[in-house]
Amino acid sequence: MKYYSTNKNTPEVSLKEAVVKGLAADNGLFMPERIEAFDPSFFENIQNLSFQEIAYEVALKFFGEDIEAQKLHEIVFDTLSFDCPLVKVDGNIYSLELFHGPTLAFKDVGARFMARLLNYFLGKKEKQVNVLVATSGDTGSAVANGFLGVEGIHVHVLYPKGKVSRIQEAQFTTLGQNITALEIDGTFDDCQHLVKTAFLDKELNEKLVLTSANSINVARFLPQAFYYFNAYARLKEAGILENRELVVAVPSGNFGNLTAGLIAAEMGLPIQQFIAANNENDVVFEYLKTGKYQPRPSVETIANAMDVGAPSNFARILDLYQHSHKLINEKIKGFRYSDGEIREVIDRVYSETGYLCDPHGACGFQALKEFLSGQQVGVFLETAHPAKFTETVEAVIGSGKVELPEKLAAFMRGTREVKSLPAEYEQFRVYLLGMCF
Ligand SMILES: *Cc1c(COP(=O)(O)O)cnc(C)c1O
Repeated sequence: MKYYSTNKNTPEVSLKEAVVKGLAADNGLFMPERIEAFDPSFFENIQNLSFQEIAYEVALKFFGEDIEAQKLHEIVFDTLSFDCPLVKVDGNIYSLELFHGPTLAFKDVGARFMARLLNYFLGKKEKQVNVLVATSGDTGSAVANGFLGVEGIHVHVLYPKGKVSRIQEAQFTTLGQNITALEIDGTFDDCQHLVKTAFLDKELNEKLVLTSANSINVARFLPQAFYYFNAYARLKEAGILENRELVVAVPSGNFGNLTAGLIAAEMGLPIQQFIAANNENDVVFEYLKTGKYQPRPSVETIANAMDVGAPSNFARILDLYQHSHKLINEKIKGFRYSDGEIREVIDRVYSETGYLCDPHGACGFQALKEFLSGQQVGVFLETAHPAKFTETVEAVIGSGKVELPEKLAAFMRGTREVKSLPAEYEQFRVYLLGMCF
């Protein structure tokens, strides 16, 4: 399968090139040349398949031409060593919990899948592949854990000193093996700048194989389609669907997760309506309303993984629907919530149902609450475990009520190992050159 750029100013590339390069040469995002629909019979029996089995069938549609079936099966089953269960929350509203992976957030799946694909394509190279990732918290932990122990690849996580929560930091500074945490004396923007400068450094790139694990990478983005198929299967298995329409609400920042859902629908998955749930970073909400797309700097909110002012995957949505505002408006409904509203939702849902939402999932829940009509079933993607946001959540429901899951507690007990660097390129460069030996 070939991959084209959403900017359409550069030749199509192979899957390998799309995964290794991340971004197209004309700065566009890669899209698969074909989106193959399933035969309707697949959906008649889907409830008999496990999450992992469904994911394998979906992965075959994307990657089956480029990776042998046996290998792809191994990659999918290794990536999905955990489930994403459906939990009833309130009436016809269900939570699809995507937070049962190693760092308790949905990015684990994409990160692990990408690690395995890079290893498949480059792992036998004589030279080690160096993945550079700048993080303000969550991306670094998902990538570090996804790539942990994957042969032939070393991950360098750059994070701003003192600006990442203790629990986030513990998730990428205690791993050891092929993961190095670099504490940069600067801001997140400084970290990003160091990484970008390294990618543009010709001499350095002759000596080292450098790549990114950016969320726009097709290997991180496409596997997110797995979730949507599983939501449908589990609803059907439980006999909940019975001729009712399915509405899925997606807490959105860069819109990778939602775009993967749109692709699942193009493959025939019967989802009637998508909802993009946003915090105050609402450029897509405004686009849906006005037809005008006006990116702007992000603002900080309590649902901080959605603090995105220029969502990169929006280019993919425009491409998927030929830039038609009308079509996009039919497929996606927009809702947005202030921090105050998010707190109110967490509080109300917890006291009325006992279900504890994280600040991102809360936006999805509330959007369904406002949107759903009688004959519909709603699923919101619960993108992170509430314990990842203990401070925010306990400030709402009372302190001491959020239990720290064992997975997070184990990170906190680990030994912290970091290398400190100033926010100066020359020293980062010297550090990277040290990797040649
Ligand atoms: C990354 C993230 C999101 C947003 O996902 P996108 O694919 O960027 O839209 C939502 N919630 C959590 C917890 C996240 O980590």
